[in-house]
Amino acid sequence: MNAKVAMANTELISDVYHRLLEAYGPQDWWPGDSAFEVIVGAILTQSTAWANVEKALANLKAANALSLQAIQALSEEKLQTLIKPSGFYTGKAHKLKAFADMLFDRYDGDLDRLFAEPLPELRRILLATHGIGPETADSIILYAASKPSFVIDAYTRRIFGRLGLRPESDAYADWQRLFSTALPTDAALFNEYHALIVRHGKTSCRAMPRCEGCRLRKMCLKAKAFNFLLSRRLGLPAFALHNKLSS
Ligand code: SF4
Repeated sequence: MNAKVAMANTELISDVYHRLLEAYGPQDWWPGDSAFEVIVGAILTQSTAWANVEKALANLKAANALSLQAIQALSEEKLQTLIKPSGFYTGKAHKLKAFADMLFDRYDGDLDRLFAEPLPELRRILLATHGIGPETADSIILYAASKPSFVIDAYTRRIFGRLGLRPESDAYADWQRLFSTALPTDAALFNEYHALIVRHGKTSCRAMPRCEGCRLRKMCLKAKAFNFLLSRRLGLPAFALHNKLSS
């Protein structure tokens, strides 16, 4: 990537952050009472909506099973029953057990000792644990360990793809590099930015986008393309229509 493109990407990423923060305000993430709850939530939220995760977390709390010791002590069948609302519960129960086993085997069940690892090593250990991919690992690192690893998810890809920002490939590492090189390495900033992306992806930039009133509309390629087609249909100059709809 040449320097000019890198500079444009940095400006766009910074501009989007400020616009989203202005639109939605601080998001105060992650929705969880403890680092361990964040980890369980990060695993349970794979391939499901957060509302389903909340039901599973409520079941675990009601059964007094939202702790490392309890997860390890429970039978896998019982754990499956408790987390059933989150879907794919057989696999997810296995993943929770694998995380607990890793923590007991390597760190005597001490989360602080795991989190004391340098970030690259922490990420390597998490990625080597059954059922933890890059998005889950980075969510745990950022929201449970409070270390700066930018989280890439489907909302990030969708929103920034629509804005016209794409890395050289769609690989997770390339997306993450895009943000990591554009932003200061700051856990609080990464925390807020990802939370704002999720908020925007859920409220406006949905699969069927609700572009009216979107604070990113002026800079959005998808909105421009839509306005171009609309202007041709209405026989109006495209720029005039885009400015009117974006104002
Ligand atoms: S203008 Fe529409 S497509 Fe573009 S970012 Fe906003 S909601 Fe998404």
